[in-house]
Amino acid sequence: MDSLTGFLDRKACMREIDRLASQARQDETPLCVLWIGLDRFRQVNTSFGHEAGDNVLAMLAYRLKTQADPEAILGRIGGDEFVVILPRTPMPGAEIAADRIHRILQAPLEVGQVALRQACSIGLALLDLTERPLDVLERADRAMHDAKRAGGNQTAVAGEERITGRFGTELAREELAIEERLHEALENGGLALHYQPILNLADGSLEACEALMRCNSRGASIQPNQFIPVAEKTGLIIRLGEWTMLTAARLADHLIQIGRPTKIAVNVSRAQLTAPKFRQVLYGVLACSDVPPGLIELELTESLFMDTSETVRNNLAAAVEAGFPLAIDDFGTGYSCLAYLKDLPARKLKLDRAFVKGLPEDRKSFAIIRTITQLAADLGMTIVAEGVETDAQRDILAEAGVTALQGFLLSYPLPETELETWLATHY
Ligand code: C2E
Ligand code: CA
Ligand code: CA
Repeated sequence: MDSLTGFLDRKACMREIDRLASQARQDETPLCVLWIGLDRFRQVNTSFGHEAGDNVLAMLAYRLKTQADPEAILGRIGGDEFVVILPRTPMPGAEIAADRIHRILQAPLEVGQVALRQACSIGLALLDLTERPLDVLERADRAMHDAKRAGGNQTAVAGEERITGRFGTELAREELAIEERLHEALENGGLALHYQPILNLADGSLEACEALMRCNSRGASIQPNQFIPVAEKTGLIIRLGEWTMLTAARLADHLIQIGRPTKIAVNVSRAQLTAPKFRQVLYGVLACSDVPPGLIELELTESLFMDTSETVRNNLAAAVEAGFPLAIDDFGTGYSCLAYLKDLPARKLKLDRAFVKGLPEDRKSFAIIRTITQLAADLGMTIVAEGVETDAQRDILAEAGVTALQGFLLSYPLPETELETWLATHY
């Protein structure tokens, strides 16, 4: 289905608004711009893979094309953002058109075994006859972000305020600055791994340590939640990932030397697994150290296990064949499908912090954890609960039957030397 044809790209949208704005001024008719952002669309990609995500986008676009106002001009302005331009549309007609788009997109859509109801946030702006044509687009964009911040699944109407900075440009500038600092850190030794112990609930023994990247540049640290997405976007994560694997393997080797063999868990991003050279990196780790592969665990999110692309499948198969254990990270943050669990080559499941946060009061989270835990245990998997901060959380997680815990209650992520001290006192 080639449903994205007929959608203007960003530049063409701008040209069209320019043209329609002059027309609107001449005729003194209103011009309405709707900026549509799909809510939490990243989760569709994370849960079902990018191919499924592309299909969903194509189907939603097809609905817009066939069911929206026939006079509407449609544009696609980003991966999951659309623009609908409505000539000669005043209020309240513009709001009615926005409501209609909410309904069109939210009709159930089958994705795998799930009926997806795609919510969206819409920013609505009416051209002010004295403003520059592009300002109306910016105001719609800004209103869309307001709608998102207010929880999504709604329309926000843009006020008349003029925009100073540009959303897209501002963001791009910020990301460029982070990228530059990451490069500097990589070259000047500003990168480090900290290690967070994961302990078995039953006997307090050490299950593994998760390696978490830290970045320091120009005397200040940047948080992983800021720099990892930038590294992923720019492809720099492939170099950072290689560095992480080798550094973790070197530590695992050292811990064997000092008589404290410890499994080190390493986070692996999508971009690393979609690169054909990932398998060379794995072999490189084995060639550069004497570490048995069983001591380097790879943490991957669910969608990677379900990815059907040949490279990802081959890379996963190579990891399994070489003997690296696999864990499912952040389980429960996407549209998790329990039925898939039985076929995955992972033997460990890490329950996302989101479930643990509301415990012990949140009975619904508890019920979900208990169900997942029972199923995973029946399938012979180990279940780790992430983000455990209190004794009460630990107790109720024990009741739910999870195998191991990770969180500030047990230990913060530690620099290498502190980890050694920690191991010395806990072994
Ligand atoms: P993650 O894989 O889910 O890692 C666990 C995160 O939870 C870490 O955040 C850890 O510091 C934090 N955490 C642990 N215990 C608690 C707790 O009790 N309470 C709370 N509130 N947080 C806790 P961090 O280090 O900021 O890393 C964030 C994310 O960045 C990681 O989430 C992971 O997705 C990514 N990341 C970190 N290092 C790497 C890396 O080397 N490679 C890749 N690809 N991603 C990485
Ligand atoms: Ca992780
Ligand atoms: Ca996690």
